[in-house]
Amino acid sequence: MTRRWLFADQLGPHFLDAPRQPVLLVESKAVFRRRAYHRQKAHLVLSALRHRAAELGDQALFLHTETYGDALLKVSGEPIEVCHPTSRAALAFVSGRDGVTVLPPRGFATTPADFVAWADRRHGRLRLEDFYRDARRRHGVLIDGGLPAGGRWNLADDPAPPPDEAPVAVPLPPPVLPVEDDIDAEVRADLDRWEAEGIRFVGRDGPRRFPVTRAEALARLRHFVDERLPALGRPVDEVRAHDPVARSLLSPAFNLGLLEPLEAVRRAEAAYRAGAAPLSGVEGFVRQLLGWRDYIWHLYWYFGADRGAGGGLRATRPVPPWFATLDAAAVEARCLSDVLAGVRDHGWAGHVPRLLVLGNYGLQRGWRPADLADWFRRVLVDGHEWALTANVVGLSPLADLGTPESRPYVAGGGYLNRIGDYCRGCRYDPRSRLGVNACPFSAGYWSFLDRNRGRLPANARLDRAMQQLDRLDDLNEVRAQERSRGDRAP
Ligand code: SF4
Repeated sequence: MTRRWLFADQLGPHFLDAPRQPVLLVESKAVFRRRAYHRQKAHLVLSALRHRAAELGDQALFLHTETYGDALLKVSGEPIEVCHPTSRAALAFVSGRDGVTVLPPRGFATTPADFVAWADRRHGRLRLEDFYRDARRRHGVLIDGGLPAGGRWNLADDPAPPPDEAPVAVPLPPPVLPVEDDIDAEVRADLDRWEAEGIRFVGRDGPRRFPVTRAEALARLRHFVDERLPALGRPVDEVRAHDPVARSLLSPAFNLGLLEPLEAVRRAEAAYRAGAAPLSGVEGFVRQLLGWRDYIWHLYWYFGADRGAGGGLRATRPVPPWFATLDAAAVEARCLSDVLAGVRDHGWAGHVPRLLVLGNYGLQRGWRPADLADWFRRVLVDGHEWALTANVVGLSPLADLGTPESRPYVAGGGYLNRIGDYCRGCRYDPRSRLGVNACPFSAGYWSFLDRNRGRLPANARLDRAMQQLDRLDDLNEVRAQERSRGDRAP
């Protein structure tokens, strides 16, 4: 049987054709020399790779080399197969190499052929909601008699709470944390040594919080379905202080290839069918996995590489050092400081804080989307280029207008105040856009709209916002204030 090269995000059994198939695993140090990764991300990836090598024993050839090219030299002469890698750079590296066969991708629910067929039918109107419904039908998930279970496809359309209603915390049992072992100790010692040798990392080291083996990933999935999913019945966006862990906490396991999306979807649906979990929570989970995750994976390949230059909205400013180095202490804005601290301490932020706090701030300030996507990829433990390109380049800073989403994810302090609990303890006032107490998100919101007048897509909500902008009697002062803010931490 041909030896299968498993990249560090292809570590589950579904990346092999047979349990005893010979395997190649490669640990390359050059990856960490090139760009500064979060220390906990480096730990997670190396730990996962080394645990897989230990599981496979003599079935795997485990090479520690400077580069992937060095590794292939060591196995030259032996045919190698590899499942379609998850980045363009890795695909370019393996494609057309003598002796290396590239197989179709695994680890996603929708095949490239199914996506292209769907996209062709849509004539360029690639709406996530349509893709999601199509995937539900195709896989028969939460479908009763050809119709969506409960009568509606998307329960996130439930009305948001009224503005004066305080957000309600969703009590979630904390996940069971993995127990570190000798392999983790060895990884930590190696990373300490690498740092001493001059390899730079960002963020703080800390106990490993995410699964690195199939067994740990299955345990996390079981805990989520049994203990957390039943509590996820209130499908509202939330950004909550001191809540660096929320929702399923499974994305690192999916993105290391330890879990298959469809197996998780089936388990969640089974919980709903058994009456153990509410449809709203299960539907939200299914939408994230079968809809959003697959959708952005396919968009990454469908649209090609020429994204993220920032041309659409003239977002060309570099990510400032305080943000790049996760200097949360330099930030007074409570929401941004707390979310940045979560990234610094755990390599993690929930989906909504990523979009509405981190991405939103970068969007408002005109930071170059490709740089921001690269930052997310390096500092989040589950960050991958395929996930961040569509997420950040196409949606959050919407640098490339004409993307599938019609509206940039830009929001002012008033909206953040409505969906979370940060503002009540903040030194800024979410209702104020001018003066010493002006909320940087509120001022930034108007400044963003003003700067991008005429470049935003036609959209009823944006049109209304533009009309409001035209009625501001202090716009000149807001402009001057935001110009003088520059790239200082807010
Ligand atoms: Fe964030 Fe503004 Fe609210 Fe402060 S007032 S927490 S800066 S949104």
